[in-house]
Amino acid sequence: KAALAVTRERPQAAAPPLKVTHGSRVIDPASGLTKLDLVRYYAQVAAWALPHLKGRPAYIRRAPLGIHEAMTFVQHPTGIRGLKGTDPELWPGHEPAIAFDAAEDLVAAAQTGMIELHTWNSTARAITLPDRIVFDLDPGEGVAWAQVQEGALLVRALLQELGLQSWLKTTGGKGLHLFVPLVPEHDYEAVRAFSEAVVGHMARTIPQRFVAVLGPRNRVGRIFIDYLRNGWVQSTAEAFSARARPGLGVSMPVAWEELAGITAGNHWNIVSGPQRLAALEADPWAEYWTKPQRLGPAVQALTPAL
Ligand code: ATP
Ligand code: MN
Ligand code: MN
Repeated sequence: KAALAVTRERPQAAAPPLKVTHGSRVIDPASGLTKLDLVRYYAQVAAWALPHLKGRPAYIRRAPLGIHEAMTFVQHPTGIRGLKGTDPELWPGHEPAIAFDAAEDLVAAAQTGMIELHTWNSTARAITLPDRIVFDLDPGEGVAWAQVQEGALLVRALLQELGLQSWLKTTGGKGLHLFVPLVPEHDYEAVRAFSEAVVGHMARTIPQRFVAVLGPRNRVGRIFIDYLRNGWVQSTAEAFSARARPGLGVSMPVAWEELAGITAGNHWNIVSGPQRLAALEADPWAEYWTKPQRLGPAVQALTPAL
């Protein structure tokens, strides 16, 4: 109830004008959805997505001819018309990452073939200090959806025991992501090490459900909790990213109370996602922005378990 009780108004979608070339191109043969559908999607969710994106280095997955054709993972804006870069002064000596500051930037990127949107765990302003932890639940072969739901609740419970509140989103793919907003005060190595310790604890405590080791063979029948997203220059599919997979699912932030009613990681797609948002009375993640948490006490609490 807590998350839904927040009455912060949902972001108003002030959709920017669309300038789309090849709008009728089918970019996902499985659903028949077109480039115009995708550009329209990003215009509709821009007001929701921008708080997650502002100031945060981004990578994109591009598929200009559709997800059945060649795709590229792009880490820098250089040479691609319509993409903006992060302020070069914020990370001297490095090529800028892709930046999204306005609805127009999202629309322009979609126009240039962007399907997916991936971001860092830190913002360019304090680039070495993560302001969130990501737990990426990756179900292995043969894991039922009910186990994924249960797995997310178990990770949430351990984090709660450690004094950390977490927020949930679908990935638009096969699994779920838990985000823990942080005060940006520890470096990537410290945050990654903590996330690895959490996952190690889960895998040791409930080995029939979880695995902490990368590799598809290790995770048959179990959930790999991918903590590697928390490393330096790693990225995670951002909230509201469309996914370059058949059906064009989207990553959707949800309230914990909604989890039982969600049927898959791709429960919503670029058409049903905006419909859900339009029907919401409040942002299920409203509190996420108000709760940057400190890692110190959680590290202390977990240490005896190691
Ligand atoms: P699912 O729920 O299906 O697992 P997901 O988004 O969590 O969806 P993963 O395969 O678990 O997908 O995560 C892959 C991660 O690796 C993504 O979060 C992405 O940011 C990152 N990534 C993907 N492709 C590349 C690439 N070519 N280079 C670097 N990083 C990548
Ligand atoms: Mn995943
Ligand atoms: Mn993963």
